[in-house]
Amino acid sequence: MQLYSTRNRNNLVSLKEAVLKGLPEDNGLYMPVRFPELEKSFIQNLHQYTFAEIGFEICSQLFNGAIPEHDLRNIIDQAISFPAPLVQLDEQKYILELFHGPSLAFKDFGARFMAQLMSYFNRGENQELVILVATSGDTGGAVAAGFHQAPGIKVVILYPSGKVSMLQEKQLTTLGHNVTALEIDGTFDDCQALVKQAFLDSELKENIRLSSANSINIARLIPQSFYYFEAYKQLAKDGNPVVFCVPSGNFGNLTAGLIAQKMGLPIQHFIAATNANDVVPEYLSSGQFTPRPSVRTLSNAMDVGNPSNFARLLDLYKNSKSSTWNIMKHSISSFHFSDSETEFGLKEVSDKYNYTIDPHGAVGYLALKEYQKTNKNTRGIILETAHPSKFNDDVERILGHKIEIPERLAKLAKLKKEAISIPNAYPVFKDWLLKQY
Ligand SMILES: *Cc1c(COP(=O)(O)O)cnc(C)c1O
Repeated sequence: MQLYSTRNRNNLVSLKEAVLKGLPEDNGLYMPVRFPELEKSFIQNLHQYTFAEIGFEICSQLFNGAIPEHDLRNIIDQAISFPAPLVQLDEQKYILELFHGPSLAFKDFGARFMAQLMSYFNRGENQELVILVATSGDTGGAVAAGFHQAPGIKVVILYPSGKVSMLQEKQLTTLGHNVTALEIDGTFDDCQALVKQAFLDSELKENIRLSSANSINIARLIPQSFYYFEAYKQLAKDGNPVVFCVPSGNFGNLTAGLIAQKMGLPIQHFIAATNANDVVPEYLSSGQFTPRPSVRTLSNAMDVGNPSNFARLLDLYKNSKSSTWNIMKHSISSFHFSDSETEFGLKEVSDKYNYTIDPHGAVGYLALKEYQKTNKNTRGIILETAHPSKFNDDVERILGHKIEIPERLAKLAKLKKEAISIPNAYPVFKDWLLKQY
């Protein structure tokens, strides 16, 4: 398997290099040179495959021998170890629950798969790999859980003291083993600056093999395509054409859906749903892509003003015959909603369907509803990207009653926090790293 940089199609690397490096030097994003077209018989017989087997079939064709079959099965079995059930709301609407992993959000799929691939490619190295991650809360939890107990890998998570929720903090600080949490007396930006400085420090790099769990690593995107197939598998075979509605921020999830479609999954159309941070809907309607600072909303994991996967979206639609914008706007519809609309959507899903959706999913629900006003004969699948209890303060306020907290989250609250307090001072951080590793 070979991958190129979206900035230069001649800059080719192996899967191993793309995964371990994360980003090409030219600041583009890695993309596979070739996406396999999966056989029609595989798509027609998806129900005969488990979720993990679907992942295996996709990867064995995409990786094309880069990882031997036996190892690949192990990697996928470790990473895809929880379900993605499809719940029907009505004749037209379904919800794909992507929150059954350890951090209760879809990012668990990508983080676990990336951790498995990194530790696989790191085998045979005699020095351990130290992953540095700065987090404002959410991504850190998925990454920490994903890398937990990955062989040959140590994870150091920097988080801003007092600026993450109690449960988010517990997700970072209670795993132990190879995961160490550093509680920084500063802001998220300070945490990020410390990590950046470490990557530029040649003395550190001589002594420690440092890497990052970059959110735009291709290894995070690939497993996200599996659950589009898994969703399709759970639908009745006969019925109206299938459309997917994706609550979006950095547009990784939507990109993974386009990849699934490219590999042969019969998806008729995509709907991109955003909150007030609507630079992509704006691009689709005007042809102008204008990144701007993000604004804070209820669906805060989608508060992104310059979506990092936009370069991959453009790349997927590059075509010599027609303008990229022209093709893209015909295959993706997009809608954006305010916080008060989101609250209304969340309440409506509860009242009408007796289903508790989270604020991100609520944005998706509104977008699908809007789309289906003029596209009635479709079966729409909304990606439910997080469990509502992750946002229980807002959800309970909007619904006016308590909601159920899943067992594994409730358990977390009782575990003891273990973190090392560090001032916001680079020399102290560096010293700690050198002593530790
Ligand atoms: C990260 C995240 C999103 C946005 O996903 P992208 O792939 O960045 O578009 C949506 N919802 C939740 C809950 C998330 O954590």
